[in-house]
Amino acid sequence: MYRSHNNGELRLEHEGQEIILSGWVQKVRDKGFMVWVDLRDRYGITQLIFDAERTDASMVEKARSLGREFVIQVKGKVIEREAKNDQMPTGDIEILVSDLSILNGSKTPPFTIENETDGGDELRMKYRYLDIRRNPVRENLIFRSKVTMEVRNYLAKEGFIDVETPYLIKSTPEGARDFVVPSRMNEGQFYALPQSPQTFKQLLMVGGLDKYFQIVKCFRDEDLRADRQPEFTQIDCEMAFVEQEDILNTFEGLVRHLLKEIKGIEIEAFPRMTYEEAIKTYGNDKPDIRFGMKFGDLNAMAKGKGFGVFDAQELVVGIAVPGCADYSRKQLDQIVDFVKKPQIGANGLVWVKYNEDGSFKSSVDKFFDQDQLKSWADQLGAKNGDLLLVMAGDDHKTRTQLSTLRMKMAEELGLRKPDEFAPLWVVDFPLLEWDEDTQRYHAMHHPFTSPKPEDMDLLETEPGKVRANAYDMVLNGNEIGGGSIRIFDKETQSRMFDLLGFTKEEAKDQFGFLMNAFEYGAPPHGGLAFGLDRLVAILGGQETIRDFIAFPKNNSGRDVMIDAPSKIDESQLKELGLKLDF
Ligand code: ASP
Repeated sequence: MYRSHNNGELRLEHEGQEIILSGWVQKVRDKGFMVWVDLRDRYGITQLIFDAERTDASMVEKARSLGREFVIQVKGKVIEREAKNDQMPTGDIEILVSDLSILNGSKTPPFTIENETDGGDELRMKYRYLDIRRNPVRENLIFRSKVTMEVRNYLAKEGFIDVETPYLIKSTPEGARDFVVPSRMNEGQFYALPQSPQTFKQLLMVGGLDKYFQIVKCFRDEDLRADRQPEFTQIDCEMAFVEQEDILNTFEGLVRHLLKEIKGIEIEAFPRMTYEEAIKTYGNDKPDIRFGMKFGDLNAMAKGKGFGVFDAQELVVGIAVPGCADYSRKQLDQIVDFVKKPQIGANGLVWVKYNEDGSFKSSVDKFFDQDQLKSWADQLGAKNGDLLLVMAGDDHKTRTQLSTLRMKMAEELGLRKPDEFAPLWVVDFPLLEWDEDTQRYHAMHHPFTSPKPEDMDLLETEPGKVRANAYDMVLNGNEIGGGSIRIFDKETQSRMFDLLGFTKEEAKDQFGFLMNAFEYGAPPHGGLAFGLDRLVAILGGQETIRDFIAFPKNNSGRDVMIDAPSKIDESQLKELGLKLDF
């Protein structure tokens, strides 16, 4: 038997008991006649004492030879500590060791295995198994496990069946590049790894399973913008005989369940916002609604007043930043510089201080009088002491820029509180999105999303105006899930492929199996998928998904621990019939 108890378990009530513990050496303190060792495992730390007077002197000698991260087993007696430590759950006791076995030695670890470590990111990833021994990393993984257990609990209770779908498949159109796998048995042919199980879950509905879910890996070969992973996990779901309303209710229930069980927070019905409203009010289809700063359209009060910079623009729009009228010149300049950064790309910004005494001071005082500025403030719902930030330009671009500024200001003012949760549904997304590069429409969600029946007539005439039965769940400014009601008849699906520029052959070649299935009694169906990594990170009060993944990849898609991707043998290439050309 390696242990009778774990290292987080023993208390004063165990005093006098003979016990066995195993774990890692966190720290050794040598006081000459006595040696103390902190013994760690997943459950906590227990202090061991080796005392030449009370136990075997050779044991003290052996304890002195222990290094950090040695794996040891000790036998001993639980005794009351003289100097108690109320910061530790086991701080009232220590173990007077009578027997010590070294189960395994350890090299000196490349960084300290403590809450705050001296190891940089790359080093910690290279030795991720050591990093996982640290409390914060381990706690994150335990937290993730708790979330997935609750997901399973809820969905099982709702009658969902967990079905695995294959990884070696054909391209699924989620809008990214595929990872491909060469087939040895079918020379010159390739599998694609699923960007999602989209088509399979639809086929499961045709198969009559009615309610499907899977916690599943998805693979997308994208350039890794900050905090994306080439393989990530979805909670993927699909239901048959449902309308949008049924899906929203079921999965609002899931997130409500998680917030309650994991965070102890009860949230009533989630607000709903149309895509159009989200863009208009927040410049963004994943608005953070934990704070205000809603957009106000200033066209009527700011254009045509002799300020040329505004007059020529499609849109003048602003926000009122609470309590910032006292910003210094330097702070204002910093905001202007921020929006001019190439990533944001604005030409500039107009600021207006709504002073506490009701007067206004602005960067455009020459063009607008106090009454005019007051009308701006009213339009933006500003109060005395607020700072108005106003941008102008092309409608869509300017809203996006102002949205980035809104988030930055909120961040700066501490309004994005990690322990506050504000979920909402964004609904009625456009079905299609115009792509300037390819001069073509793309499916905004994916090609299986059904248009709203009332917009069906516009499909060929004004495709850009067609709305979809598509929805996203947004939490604290992040899209945590999204899905749609699907097309379930061959004819509409084929119209959709036409619209997206697929030739009949291409459509048949790529999605013939789905179109065929639609000819054998496909039920109405719909679903969605949550991004598990992000959901867990947000519930954990953080936004970095890497911290909640046991073995994440770095920004170049590398696993630096196992050193992948890597070259393969000439013989392997040959077997696969591949020749490298670089
Ligand atoms: N397959 C979709 C995605 O990965 C989700 C869905 O439509 O259910 O975003």
